[in-house]
Formats: sequence, structure tokens, C-alpha cells
Amino acid sequence: MIYPIMSSNYRSNCYLIVDKEVALIDSGNPPTILKKIDRLNIGIDYLISTHCHYDHIAGLFEIREKVDGLMAAHEIDAEAMERGDRDKILSDMFGVHCPKLQVDIKLKDGDSINLGNLDLQVIHTPGHSEGSICLYEPRSKSLFSGDTIFADSIGRTDLPGGSLSDLRRSIERLIRLHHESGIKIIYPGHGPLGNGEDIEKIYKMYLGKPQKV
Ligand SMILES: [Zn+2]
Ligand SMILES: [Zn+2]
Repeated sequence: MIYPIMSSNYRSNCYLIVDKEVALIDSGNPPTILKKIDRLNIGIDYLISTHCHYDHIAGLFEIREKVDGLMAAHEIDAEAMERGDRDKILSDMFGVHCPKLQVDIKLKDGDSINLGNLDLQVIHTPGHSEGSICLYEPRSKSLFSGDTIFADSIGRTDLPGGSLSDLRRSIERLIRLHHESGIKIIYPGHGPLGNGEDIEKIYKMYLGKPQKV
């Protein structure tokens, strides 16, 4: 069962995935997350961050006081989180202090986190940040896309570690995934939910013109 916890402003959307084990993807809205797990009477086994930006990881401090899940992030962004890299985490941009975070599981492309029936497959999608990931769940054909792609736009590439050419390649990979395996629902880091068809539409809208070098 996937429970979207939608947020606005500078908070990220978060997704609670409840199976034999429970995963939380991103943590932008801790009060709602804690209320939800209380109501469902569950713990959290995995706290997965799609990338290291403050709006996706800040809630972890509050959540970790109440639950002990294993923290997971791509190895590149995990390094920024463990160092408390103010530049890469964007804590200066958000005007806040972000303490260092220990990451228990350093993810790589091709890894997966099995929750029982549901399986979260890690796709390394650099572009918005160097260690951004998307997670694909094949049974429900869900894509948790972080800030790589939204229902109506692409992720920013002007932040530290961002790269438009990397983002282009990452989104091309998601289009291939949609053609080969099917993506029914996109669960993005911000804004409304989308579907697989949106990926190609957004790509054409933002990246489809021939690039000048
Ligand atoms: Zn971001
Ligand atoms: Zn974000």
C-alpha cells in the first residue's frame, strides 16, 4: 500500500510504502508522517532519501527521534549528508543549519530494497543533484521520481552538482523504462502525481529542442 503525504511550499512530498516492511521516501512533512504511522500503528524500516537537498532530508531528525529505520541514500549524496555539506544540501539557501546525518545504506544504481511483495529498484538519475535517485516499483508500476521529474516540469539543474546534460540522459532512461516496463504512476518530490506518459511530454516541452553546444 502506498500512502502519499503531499506537501507544499518548501516541504517535499513524502511517500509511505507499507508492506511486510515499511519504507518512507523523503521526509519533508514530519508532523503528518508521524501522525500517519501512529494511526496505522506501524514502525518504519527504511528511511530513503531521493537526494540530499534540505527540503527532502530535514524531517529525518524529527522522525528519527520516534522511529529507528535504516537510512538509505545514493552513495554520492550520502557523502554530502554525512559531511553536512552546506553547499550541496542547500542549507545556506534555505537559511538553516543542517547537522550531519549518518547514512546506513549507501545505494548504487541497480540495488533494490525489498519490502516483501513490493521491491524498490534504485535508478541513479543524476542531473538535479549528482546522487539523485528514482525508485521503481515493478508490481504497482510506480516511479518515485524525487526532483528529477515532476508531473509538469523537470528538476532544476542550476544548483550545486546539477547538470542539464546528465538530467537529459536520466530522463531519457526513464522514458525507456516506461516503454519497456510501464510506469503507471509518478510520485514526484513536489507537486501533483503524474503518469508515465507525462515523462515524454515533459521531456519534449523542456528538453526536446535540438541542443546548441
Ligand atoms: Zn532537490
Ligand atoms: Zn525538492
